[in-house]
Amino acid sequence: MNKKEKVELIKSYFDEILPNATCELNYSKDFELLIAVVLSAQTTDKKVNELTTKLFKKYPTIDDYDNASLIDIENDIKCIGLYKNKAVALKDIAHKLKYNFNYKVPCNKEDLLTMKGVGNKVANVVLIELFDQEEFPVDTHVFRCAKRLGLASKNDSINKVEEKLRKTFDKKYYKKLHHQFIHFGRYFCKAINPSCKSCKLKEICVDNIKNRFDQ
Ligand code: SF4
Repeated sequence: MNKKEKVELIKSYFDEILPNATCELNYSKDFELLIAVVLSAQTTDKKVNELTTKLFKKYPTIDDYDNASLIDIENDIKCIGLYKNKAVALKDIAHKLKYNFNYKVPCNKEDLLTMKGVGNKVANVVLIELFDQEEFPVDTHVFRCAKRLGLASKNDSINKVEEKLRKTFDKKYYKKLHHQFIHFGRYFCKAINPSCKSCKLKEICVDNIKNRFDQ
């Protein structure tokens, strides 16, 4: 199978099993998405949504985060991992949104990266979700699945995987594919016990798990 055929197979299979994959983080305001994505580092979206249901009610505005004490925010988010660093990030984000960006989430990576807790992946998620920019954020699921599907090499870094995915797919599909990769990794091609038996991408899967296909 040549590369073009492989790409078409992945796209059509994802459309078949994941036609409506979208962002699973809950938010109703732009800055809430930014907060939710920062909170989601090394935490499941489900856990973040449980937390933000209460958090977004207690802190409905950017000023609420800026005015709150660090200790209060720590206490309010301590049910998730890395909460101390995340509390510092939330305070910094609120302060910068207020004083540097006129209460608006910036629509460019350079400005987003000035805020604590915002790295390349967080910035890319914000840019595709809020501004429909042509980014391809690579999280743990995208990273794993891209390698299993032979779209990146085993030792590639996150940046390299992102670069290869950008080159492989047409820009107009980035957002949809980003979500489809995440859902594929979360519900089908899981890190442990992936659903290989029913997977129609077996023939292009390069992960060294061929024996699983015969089980
Ligand atoms: S065959 Fe298994 S490991 Fe390979 S892509 Fe499909 S689910 Fe993932």
